[in-house]
Amino acid sequence: MPSTAPDDAADRARLRRVRPPDWRNPAPAARYDLVIVGGGTTGVVAAQAAAALGKKVALVERYLLGGNCLHIGCVPSKALIRTSRLYAEMRDAERYGAQVPTDIHVDFPALMERMRAIRARLSRSCSAPELVAMGIDVFFGLGRFVSPVAVQVGAATLRFRKALIATGARPDTPPIPGLVAAGYYTNASVFDLTTLPSRLLVVGGGPLGCEMAQAFCRFGAHTTIVQHWPLFLPREERDAAQILSDAFARDGIAVRLNTEVVGVRVEHGQKLVDLVSADYHNTIATDAILAGTGRVPSVEGLGLEAAGVAYDRHRGVHVDDFLRTSNRHIHAAGDVCLDEKFNDTADASARIAVRNALAHGHERFSAMTIPWCTYTDPEIAHVGLYVRQARERKIPVKTFTILMHDVDRAVADSEEAGFVKIHVREGTDRILGATIVARHAGEMISEITLAMVADAGLRTLSRVMHPYPTQAEAITKAAAAYLRTLRPRTVTSRRRGGFQS
Ligand SMILES: Cc1cc2nc3c(=O)[nH]c(=O)nc-3n(C[C@H](O)[C@H](O)[C@H](O)COP(=O)(O)OP(=O)(O)OC[C@H]3O[C@@H](n4cnc5c(N)ncnc54)[C@H](O)[C@@H]3O)c2cc1C
Repeated sequence: MPSTAPDDAADRARLRRVRPPDWRNPAPAARYDLVIVGGGTTGVVAAQAAAALGKKVALVERYLLGGNCLHIGCVPSKALIRTSRLYAEMRDAERYGAQVPTDIHVDFPALMERMRAIRARLSRSCSAPELVAMGIDVFFGLGRFVSPVAVQVGAATLRFRKALIATGARPDTPPIPGLVAAGYYTNASVFDLTTLPSRLLVVGGGPLGCEMAQAFCRFGAHTTIVQHWPLFLPREERDAAQILSDAFARDGIAVRLNTEVVGVRVEHGQKLVDLVSADYHNTIATDAILAGTGRVPSVEGLGLEAAGVAYDRHRGVHVDDFLRTSNRHIHAAGDVCLDEKFNDTADASARIAVRNALAHGHERFSAMTIPWCTYTDPEIAHVGLYVRQARERKIPVKTFTILMHDVDRAVADSEEAGFVKIHVREGTDRILGATIVARHAGEMISEITLAMVADAGLRTLSRVMHPYPTQAEAITKAAAAYLRTLRPRTVTSRRRGGFQS
């Protein structure tokens, strides 16, 4: 269960909404149109969408409504990242011609309190009483399939016409000898910290590891990040990951790439972490360890065998492109069945599953255009295909790149690290994908996502005006670089910059 410490007013307000202390499960209906197991983003969105169609819905949640995103994921991590940026900017003040006291004091309890207040505020969107007001039957307890058409929760049996598996994912425990005995944090516990560890070792250089390593370093923890791959964020373009490595070095994070954690011991009250890089062995002493080595689908104890639903522990519940499981009465959506474990994908897949299950929909998950972002500084955002994926599919690619140091607003803001890269099918302006590395890449990627969804190519993007100066002008500049391949001499000097590859 996600921990609910510390017990303060904000947390009590959050819990009153997402798991009211005096809750009594309702008497079950004779049969539900939809029973949803799991009350995270996927489950709550699906319940609301099905209720809006006038269907009789039951939502089963074993811990807290809102799931990972609200309690131990997107919301608390982004709240901390915002404060960490502020501290980084204060330390960097001289570069902006400003002055702040040299010894900046980080008030860790206060910034955690701010995070808890934000979490409490955003918990309104998944409050149990509000879901009940929409006509949804909310059940707290472990949901378990007992047949292909029924779920058990406590003593109640919920019979259904259709069901949705929305049980999400949980942190993976890396198989490191001594780690469990020494004690370590995951995203399920790190947001409960009330004091800043003076030394932190982060295992794993994926999005969670990278975001939290940078934030905690900026709070003042001596931070080491260990990644067994040669670069961070292995899924992203190499140059994006390289910019991140450089940014970490500037922040003062000790970066250990190509390095394995092979053991953990506790001696004299400190954790000793044994590392191996090629043939080089060394040991780092730390006060706390954060494991950010990925998440695995929550499929255990769900009675999937009784339901006739195929699954495995690695991929989770098996679904087809319409999010149907091997039981024709049961769909799945969100982290429990998708490779793209993002909140926006959880939300969108929940709506597709509901329309397909209850409203004769025939929507394909693969038709979605999915953007994502890692909220480091700079941010790394992506949508569509990477070059390597396009090549695997034998699609000829041409890439248009604008470096952020050629974008006036990035220069004015002293935020010049990064680029906008847009990949098109060679010989056309059709966008296959894009990567943006920039301070606000997560905001900028939406313009390209919109273009892809609307089937608008670089010609259209070249006509989109942006207020001057904004960092999103980089997108128009990339589009202008494409136009120059068609009629090189007609392009105005205002749209100079950028190169193709
Ligand atoms: C640290 C971190 C940061 C993240 N940041 C971002 C971000 O910035 N942007 C983004 O898009 N995504 C982010 N994500 C991912 C995002 O949180 C998930 O993709 C999203 O929460 C998935 O929602 P879900 O409903 O599918 O699963 P979950 O949120 O995992 O919800 C599943 C729910 O099912 C319940 N459950 C499980 N088994 C049972 C059972 N048998 N009976 C009853 N209930 C059960 C669980 O208790 C849980 O509440 C982040 C994740 C983490 C961990």
